[in-house]
Parts: sequence; C-alpha cells; structure tokens
Amino acid sequence: MAATALTGSGSPGAPRADRWHNALILVVTRRCDLRCAYCPTVKDGEPDLSIEDAKRALTLFVERHGGGDCKLFGGEPLLVPDVVRAVVNAAPPSVSVYLSTNGTHLDEGWLRWLYMRPQVTLTLSLDGKARDHDGLRRGAPSHDALVAKLPALLRLPRFVVTQTIAPSTAVRAAENFRYLRSLGVKRFNLLPGYYLPWKPEQLAALEDNFTQIADDIEGAWAKGENLYLRNLFVRAPVAFYNTGFVVDCDRRIYGNNLVLAGNLDHVRAATATGTLDNPPSEAELAENGARAGQVLADTLGPAIMEATAQADACLTRLCNRLYPAYFEHRGRKVITR
Ligand code: SF4
Repeated sequence: MAATALTGSGSPGAPRADRWHNALILVVTRRCDLRCAYCPTVKDGEPDLSIEDAKRALTLFVERHGGGDCKLFGGEPLLVPDVVRAVVNAAPPSVSVYLSTNGTHLDEGWLRWLYMRPQVTLTLSLDGKARDHDGLRRGAPSHDALVAKLPALLRLPRFVVTQTIAPSTAVRAAENFRYLRSLGVKRFNLLPGYYLPWKPEQLAALEDNFTQIADDIEGAWAKGENLYLRNLFVRAPVAFYNTGFVVDCDRRIYGNNLVLAGNLDHVRAATATGTLDNPPSEAELAENGARAGQVLADTLGPAIMEATAQADACLTRLCNRLYPAYFEHRGRKVITR
C-alpha cells in the first residue's frame, strides 16, 4: 500500500514531528491484487523481499538508530505473510511497526495474531462509501468485505484508516469521512491523491471538504469524543513519499520511497544509494533523500508539481486550523484524568 504513506509535507512552522529521521521503510513486495486508479506503484516483474533480507535491513537500522518506526509497504504486504511476521517478531521493543494493507487478505488468523501485538499499527485503506472506494479500484470491489471486517478491526490495539481522496472524489470527501465515522472509525489518515492533475474546481472542492471535516473534528473534540488525525503528527519533506532508510524488494537502498512510482522507474538504478550488501553511510542516505524532490520535479514537470503543492497546502491548512482545538482537547483530557 504505497498510497497509505503518511503524508502532508506541512509548512515549516507546523508542529508535526520530523519522524522520518528514524524510519525504516521496507518495500516487501510490489504485487497487489487491487489496481487503484491513484496508485503509482509498479506492480509486476519484481521479486519479493526475502525474510533474510528483511531481517538484515532491520538489524542495520537498529544498529544505526537504536529504534524508530518500521513501515511495511507494498504493493500489498500481506501477500508475503512470512516476511511480515518475521519482521514483526524480530523487531525489538524500540521499534514500532506500521503495516499498511488494502485489507483483502485480513482473515481471522491475521486478526488473532495482530490482537496480540500492540507494537503493530495496522493502517487500512478505505476511502469511504462503495461508490468512491470501489470506483477508484480497477480490481474486484472490496468495500463490502472491508466494512464487514470493521467491527473486528476496530478492536485491534492500534488501527488507523487511510481515506484517500482523489481529484474526482474530493467533492464527496466530507461525506465519506462522516460515513467512515458512522461505521465507528475514530483514527484517520487523510490522503489527497498526490502527483495527479488536479483541476482548479477539484482543488476548491478539496478545500471546502477539508473545512467541513475540520468542523466535524472540532465538534467531536468539543464534545469530548476521541478522534485522531494522524496527519497532525507527521510531516514529510517530500509530499506523499516517505524519507528514511528505504529498502526496496530488490535489495537496493534509497533515501526516499518515491522509487515506487511507475513514472520514475527509468531512473531507479541511477537513484539508488547502495544495496543491503553495500549499504550507504548516513550522509549518503540523507543526500539521496534530499535529492528526491528534484528527481520528481524533473520527471513530472511543473504542472503536476504545482497541483501537488496546492493539494498538500489544503492538507496543511486543515492541520494548522486544527492544532489549537487539538491542544485544547488534549488539555481537557489531561485535566479529567
Ligand atoms: S491497494 Fe491500491 S494503493 Fe495499495 S498497493 Fe494496491 S493498487 Fe496500490
């Protein structure tokens, strides 16, 4: 689930944590049984990451940083269940694991396993009502099956829903948000479709719908309801993509996972900075990650970059509006504890 990446580049002053400094991103497979219209990940013709290589990457990361966040991305990570289980079982207490999934392979066995592992945050991609969730997927419909699993998923120790908002669905983003809330979802990650050609009216709809969502969230907090928006706590230097210690399924290492993007496939080899056999120094990795934004700009052109910046700015405005209410809400919770 590349598209469930934490996102929002934020303005420099936004108090989102700079968590990418301590992030290991494992692209465990590029395969996926869905074909979301907004998904940039190249799906075919790639190996899966082996258990040995996944553990080797984790060891390297822990040796360097002591701990941090380990994000399991794809494609669909649950297509390589042994790799996922091996990483979670090998992760020391200093490492929090984030597993992003489209949910189609989440069965009773996975749920039982996840209930016992509070160190894992499960992030499910669910965009809203069937019309928009299934409408954006070119594979089989998955909305009804995911909604049927929601009561069990909501009992997991750490569970977040990523609501992706494509240009074509921006006009119904608030309606979809309210729908997900009506299903009991309390922890959200909002994800505007990045690197897509947003039209001015679609950006206006995004802004308007984010305003409605902010109204809903502030209203919920004022009533003392627990409602979590992950975007408030994450800031990334390159919108949508994750900067950190990125290990691709072919063992190459990058400073940013924009290597997943199909339209950058031709520059992959040239933008790698080592392999698991010959890993980069911290300085080389940082330099590689810092170049990522320019690689994107050179490849995608100014129109797409501008549209992306504007969509991201809508998200940043949403976060900036919510911070005062969030701190007030948090303060009330501390007092009433
Ligand atoms: S579920 Fe959709 S967004 Fe996630 S990897 Fe598959 S096609 Fe891409």
